[in-house]
Amino acid sequence: ITFSQLNLNETLLARLHALGYTQPTAVQQQAIPVVLAGGDLLAGANTGSGKTAAFALPLLQKLSGQGVSGGNYVSALVLVPTRELAQQVADSFISYGAGLAPKAKVLAVYGGVSVNTQMLALRGGADVLVATPGRLLDLVSSNAIKLSKVQTLVLDEADRMLNLGFDDELKQILALLPKRKQTLLFSATFPEEVRELTTALLEQPVEIQL
Ligand code: AMP
Repeated sequence: ITFSQLNLNETLLARLHALGYTQPTAVQQQAIPVVLAGGDLLAGANTGSGKTAAFALPLLQKLSGQGVSGGNYVSALVLVPTRELAQQVADSFISYGAGLAPKAKVLAVYGGVSVNTQMLALRGGADVLVATPGRLLDLVSSNAIKLSKVQTLVLDEADRMLNLGFDDELKQILALLPKRKQTLLFSATFPEEVRELTTALLEQPVEIQL
């Protein structure tokens, strides 16, 4: 199976070609159609599986043409456990979306750095916001960002997020999101806490276990 058989648009296909991605990985083959179709997804996937592109490519395609959400709103919210992963995932979105016009506005926010720069960058909202839970909540409480128009939520490395003790923050964030949305959950392992989260959060998800 090829990327073009996954119904990705010409701009994204050209970009993948330029990056030397000749074939979708297993998680990409299975996840991309589900994400494009708007369904919820539960994916068991490790780092190195190509999971970032599995959600970034179809989300970029869905967002393209939609225009920046404006008014401090976010369209797609990606929650990650660490600042390194936040930066890495945001960089992937920017790289994959490099040819799209209008460009998707992609931002990463995480703790340990000044909040002011992030607040300024968030003015006018973002198409894709990649965030660690604690800093996201700080930015929400200072009204720098609004989550009430999120269309897609991605939980990346959900098991690590819970292992790091982000369960309270996650609950608070989930309560701020619209009830009707698409949710994609990626996790390397599925201990009890992750399974509880998936039951509470996902609606009739397609399950991918690699
Ligand atoms: P990830 O599992 O998302 O951290 O991705 C692991 C690495 O695989 C990253 O360096 C990606 O750039 C690369 N990658 C992802 N998808 C593909 C693909 N279809 N072909 C070649 N490399 C890929």
